[in-house]
Amino acid sequence: MLKSVTKDFADKSTLEQFEFEFYCDCCGAVVRTPVIEFVSVFKRKRFLNSDIKKARDIIYAADHDRAFERANIEAMYELNRCEICGAMVCEDCTVYGKNLNGGVCCKKCDESEK
Ligand SMILES: [Zn+2]
Ligand SMILES: [Zn+2]
Repeated sequence: MLKSVTKDFADKSTLEQFEFEFYCDCCGAVVRTPVIEFVSVFKRKRFLNSDIKKARDIIYAADHDRAFERANIEAMYELNRCEICGAMVCEDCTVYGKNLNGGVCCKKCDESEK
């Protein structure tokens, strides 16, 4: 099973392209990462026999995993990791630390500290 940087994510991939959505651990805001095309010679063929289909599925699966890994990295740049609970949160849910030596934490942790 694929491992996401956020607790929730959605795989919107099709046979033509890879697309993932990640959700802020705090408020659920959607973070979309760039769509990656599934570039392949198979796309041009209208009829695929079972051997070609099998080959396509193998390549697709490998490319899908790579695309997901890349999307996770993109999502990490969009989100901030709370230094207290480890949640990946969006800009709106990020509190830039006063007591954390300039670190960041999420709104929930900030509130429970008070
Ligand atoms: Zn958020
Ligand atoms: Zn937190």
